[in-house]
Amino acid sequence: MAALPRRVVVREVGLRDGLQSVATIVPTAAKIEWIRDAYAAGQREIEVGSFVPPRLLPQLADTADVLAFAQTLPGLRATVLVPNLKGAQRALEANAEMMLLPLSASHAHSLANLRKAPDDVLAEIANIRAERDASGRRTQIEVGISTAFGCTIQGEVKPEEVVRLVQAALDAGVDAVSLADTVGYADPAMVSRLFERVLKVAGDRLVCGHFHDTRGLGLANVYAALQLGISRFDACTAGIGGCPHAPGASGNVATEDLTYMLHSMGIETGLDFDRLLALRAKVAHWLQGEATHGTIWKTGLPRTMKKEVAHA
Ligand code: ZN
Repeated sequence: MAALPRRVVVREVGLRDGLQSVATIVPTAAKIEWIRDAYAAGQREIEVGSFVPPRLLPQLADTADVLAFAQTLPGLRATVLVPNLKGAQRALEANAEMMLLPLSASHAHSLANLRKAPDDVLAEIANIRAERDASGRRTQIEVGISTAFGCTIQGEVKPEEVVRLVQAALDAGVDAVSLADTVGYADPAMVSRLFERVLKVAGDRLVCGHFHDTRGLGLANVYAALQLGISRFDACTAGIGGCPHAPGASGNVATEDLTYMLHSMGIETGLDFDRLLALRAKVAHWLQGEATHGTIWKTGLPRTMKKEVAHA
């Protein structure tokens, strides 16, 4: 077992992964306030939205405006999700720092989500890489392997298929890959096994773990990946979100719960815990009537946890 990372990046994905699966449309001004507060709390990586047609996701129709605001904050790395070449062209036009391309390891999920088989998505990824190079932009390309641990439609997803897709994505010229448990099927042993296999193929280009807390194992799965040296994790403030193809799914691990766990373990995040909790209250208010998740906001920090540790 490798030593645990000393520092971890918590990437906020609530504005995309969270908001895309709740019915409430959060106004652009509130999203900007969310990003401003997250930045003030120390967050330097935020997924701000998705360049999909507004008729499919009206919640994210203002992504270009939200991205433009994020780009005014020095040192903030804003990610946008792009489902296809058209979305990538919009991300390049906007000079996004990073685009996240979803690639489902489940054939059935891929058809349901993008109406394309995984190998057709790979062909599109190669086109996106060519488009990026032709544009002269520096926009980084990260491929997120979704349903890497199983799928509500297809059931089992073979680790061999995940490894094959990671290799193919790297061959297509992407800068980084991440593994996502989109529907909350993973357990820590599965995480250890799959990350270990993918690390052999991708090395330090495997940059992120994305765990939904659907069955309560989100933080345990983070810990399993931490033990393999993974030092970047996606999280949603208030644990919001789910998956349109995963009925009843809860969102990613809650940003504030993940931060608490890391601080308690002595791992630096650069995040201000009190500010994160204040932001959580705002987000819950904007999403009144929607399900929120997470634990630490109800209980507060333990007495044994000193303030300076909370702000590590
Ligand atoms: Zn997700």
